Amino acid sequence: MQYSRRKFLKFLSGFTATVGLGFSRNKLTAMNISNLSTRSGEAACIPRPIQVVIDDVGWWSGWDGSGQQEPFRTGISRDHTLADYKSIIELGRSLNICPQAAMVLCEWDRENILRDLPDSTWMGINWDNGKWAGPWLDEAADLICNNPDHFEFTVHGIGHEYWSGGNLSRAEWATADGTMRTEEFIHNHLEYYQKIMQQNRLGSFPQSFVPAAFNHGFGTTAGNQVSLAELLNGFGISYINTPFYKMQNADKVKNAVFGLDAGVLTIDRGNDLLNWNVISSLPKGEIPGPTCGMHWPNLLHENPERNSEIVQGWAAFLRPYDDRLETLLAQNSDHFQKQLIHHISTRIRVAGKQIELDFSEADKLGTEKAMDGLTVKFRSSQKTCFDSQDLDILSSSAVREDSTILYTLILRRRKTQSGASISFSKHGSSIDK
Ligand SMILES: [Zn+2]
Repeated sequence: MQYSRRKFLKFLSGFTATVGLGFSRNKLTAMNISNLSTRSGEAACIPRPIQVVIDDVGWWSGWDGSGQQEPFRTGISRDHTLADYKSIIELGRSLNICPQAAMVLCEWDRENILRDLPDSTWMGINWDNGKWAGPWLDEAADLICNNPDHFEFTVHGIGHEYWSGGNLSRAEWATADGTMRTEEFIHNHLEYYQKIMQQNRLGSFPQSFVPAAFNHGFGTTAGNQVSLAELLNGFGISYINTPFYKMQNADKVKNAVFGLDAGVLTIDRGNDLLNWNVISSLPKGEIPGPTCGMHWPNLLHENPERNSEIVQGWAAFLRPYDDRLETLLAQNSDHFQKQLIHHISTRIRVAGKQIELDFSEADKLGTEKAMDGLTVKFRSSQKTCFDSQDLDILSSSAVREDSTILYTLILRRRKTQSGASISFSKHGSSIDK
């Protein structure tokens, strides 16, 4: 995380022996959060995590071909270049986060295997991707594979839409009302997605998914015995991000912004700040939920040499969310999922000289994602040290905010206890102004 906007205080001594000062953030796999609790000038919070999700990465042409039965693609007037991949990584590096890139892969097909999957492209059995089979594929694949901490490969689609008799309809995985296509169709498309990944040595199959055009159903939909989530899980996917306003069966989600569908965590994307094809524009407004969703052009400039202007605008926009008591920028989607569960389900309160956590609601969800750990933020007017018999305090950092100090504690659960406490005490002198 970046603390450049405020004075960064040194790590404090006095933590339990489990505090690892050299702990790598990227190895963290634990987080949760919950309500805000204040008492006598102190405040504790399980902050809302925010995860960046970027759709429609992977197109080489930006052209919106929907008027000619071709995909919408990214809807911009130029082709995509390596610089556009570097922009995602630059955003990740600038904020020490791992943006999710929801990838469309048909224009990565070097061997025209999609001729055998004619409903996946506008050309059907005559599919020919020769135009896009060039050295840029290897260059982009190298960038992706060499930056796993700042680029998470997420499944989005092969051709993004569905073609029948040369006619396009939306979208690849489900119809406009969120009804899943047939089980066989889903299986074939996931298999061919994997084959194109293998052609390009893009690594192991992703663990996350964003439905094309956000056409999605939670749980089973008409005509199907299983849900899309369950089929995706068979390929190793454990997390779906999609806006609930457009999701069939959204009323079956019990926790407002997340639900478990065949064990697959499904998280609300909410509304994006920018329209899908807006380019060369800086974001403004407020991120109301856990997902900062955008489409690839939103991060880019019409002139790719100026992409960095837009990327740094996003970095400046997002950074303050990391500095607040109530929010944080998720380090990656694994951290994001675990923290969101605790933010919603785990209770926190300050009692005496203790921060008390109640995990009972999170544990009732029955997901391993609740068992790992969480991040707690704590605000105090005094330099403070922390200790816990119940939790490992993996790391603690602090930033000064005028007359207070904001602490970030990264915690790991030691066992499946339903409650835990962290004691805090004054450390040295109060803040020198
Ligand atoms: Zn899309």
